[in-house]
Amino acid sequence: MPRPTYATLDLAALAHNHARVRSQAGRARIWSVVKANAYGHGLLRVAHTLAPLTDGFALVEFEGAAALREAGIQHPILMLEGCYDTSDLQRCAELSLTPVLHVVEQVQALLAANLARPLSVMVKLNTGMNRLGFAPAELPNILQQLQGHSAIASINLMTHFADADGPTGIATPLQRFKTLTDGLGLPVSLANSATILRYPEAQGDWVRPGIMLYGASPFPEISAAELDLKPVMSLHGQLLTVRELQPGDTVGYGCGFVAPEPMRIGVAACGYADGYPRHAPTGTPIVVDGVRTRTLGRVSMDKICVDLAPVPQAQVGSPVLFWGTDGKVTLPADEVAVAAGTIAYELFCALTARVPVKEIGMDAGMDAGKHGG
Ligand SMILES: *Cc1c(COP(=O)(O)O)cnc(C)c1O
Repeated sequence: MPRPTYATLDLAALAHNHARVRSQAGRARIWSVVKANAYGHGLLRVAHTLAPLTDGFALVEFEGAAALREAGIQHPILMLEGCYDTSDLQRCAELSLTPVLHVVEQVQALLAANLARPLSVMVKLNTGMNRLGFAPAELPNILQQLQGHSAIASINLMTHFADADGPTGIATPLQRFKTLTDGLGLPVSLANSATILRYPEAQGDWVRPGIMLYGASPFPEISAAELDLKPVMSLHGQLLTVRELQPGDTVGYGCGFVAPEPMRIGVAACGYADGYPRHAPTGTPIVVDGVRTRTLGRVSMDKICVDLAPVPQAQVGSPVLFWGTDGKVTLPADEVAVAAGTIAYELFCALTARVPVKEIGMDAGMDAGKHGG
């Protein structure tokens, strides 16, 4: 029997979450963000599910873009970091990809490249994130170089807000962006998930949802359920054993937990080699046999110990839910992430290749192998 640890990916939930984007974003078109293997959910699986629903895909990996084209995806594809070298420019022309231009070297390389056909480009403006993008003062000169050039089919403008999910908000960077771009008549893309959900005035012409498609909340203080987002990835396992502890007995490496009283504990088959965060401390929420309880001691490579006090019926083989939903009980990945000092984005991306994946929620003949992991 295979190890009883597996992930389910609910494609109906993915479609539902995309519909949530649609209803929030008004007339804006949607670049579904599928970087990092679709946040760990499987690039081609997600692309096939969203292809009939969405308007484009955005990612950073050229291998991923090529895989999308090979799989027959004909949507616009936005390369969020643009080209890393001239061979990428060739690929943009061959595969009809839309590169971001965020630095003057990329502009020069494109204008000098002599490509077989002109490219649509996305000029990125830095409005305060201070990662990628042109300074506002650089923009007029960059646009002057691009406009009317034979290498350019069309120009779009974008920015990425630093604190759409936090207290600083977007007012200042949005104002910066609008001051420069209003009146240019170029399509603009502004909004990640947090902006889509919080700032109806900043949807622009194209939105760029990532995490909300995968059913987690971009906000620390608002749950996914409150936003009507459904978990796509769930991580399941079983109890390998059950044991009784005496006061003073310890649990796991480093004796990370000491039993203060007689306790019944279980050992679940999942660890950091599956993608469960090693930093999750004692007390991290976990579900055993449909009942919420807590982890005990250190997470190891393959195993996690759990408190069975609230689950007296638990026995060897009882089902364990690490995050997501079993159809009855939901344990948001956001809650596990908070306990571990991280965000659901990181949990999803960290799911490892050894975890088998089952697709659920749509019965269009989708088996796990067909659409890749
Ligand atoms: C990853 C990314 C997004 C998606 O962000 P979420 O918070 O996951 O919605 C949008 N825009 C850019 C530029 C990104 O890199």
